[in-house]
Amino acid sequence: MFAPVSEIFCSVQGEGAYVGARQAFVRFVGCNLNCSYCDTPQGDENYCRFEKDPGSDVFESLPNPLTVDMVEDMVRSYKNIHSVSLTGGEPLLHADFISRLRTSAPLYLESNMTLPQMAKKIKDRVSYVAGDVKLMEEFEGEDFESHLDRTIECFRILKTTNKRDCFCKIVVTADTVADDVIGIVDTILNYVSSAVLQPVTSSQKTASTKFLLDLQESLLDKIDTRIIPQTHRMWGCL
Ligand code: SF4
Repeated sequence: MFAPVSEIFCSVQGEGAYVGARQAFVRFVGCNLNCSYCDTPQGDENYCRFEKDPGSDVFESLPNPLTVDMVEDMVRSYKNIHSVSLTGGEPLLHADFISRLRTSAPLYLESNMTLPQMAKKIKDRVSYVAGDVKLMEEFEGEDFESHLDRTIECFRILKTTNKRDCFCKIVVTADTVADDVIGIVDTILNYVSSAVLQPVTSSQKTASTKFLLDLQESLLDKIDTRIIPQTHRMWGCL
């Protein structure tokens, strides 16, 4: 089994409920969406960058695609990690590969939550799910309603259980409509342990502090809700 991987490195989680946790990152190539705020690094997809020594900025280049054994060996070289972040792009595009991965640290899936059939394949393998909710304003693609249905179905499949924590992450911009956020969170309330509002920081479309605090106040009536920007951008690390 092979998969194209753009980079493997060790750092800390920069977003969401587990911010600061030390992780191995496996960034898969490819995504099924095209979000306007996407900041996924576009490297040479023919090669995987591997930073063996965390934070060294020294990378080996390995030709893609990689085997499961190769990824396991690279991840195993990192010590004292909380979990292995499967990120992208969209890692669920590589669900068959992920279902064969065996690592000593638990798997942490970062997903756009739009591929329910793939989610079913790995639901018993992942211990953490950081699931994105894409709002109408940022959505580019076919029918938004069916996109939303797939998102809700993904959250239902990957919901919080006694073996898995699932939280949702919503990027908030100046265009975000509070009622849209509240409406979507209502539909997945029984599936997630918390909601994270992530103010966009990489464009001119930053939402106001008042908007974010008002939205948090409304959501807190229903669910633990935190406002957490992308901390790795502040720090300037991977
Ligand atoms: S789902 Fe994530 S990786 Fe894919 S286009 Fe959107 S922001 Fe980028």
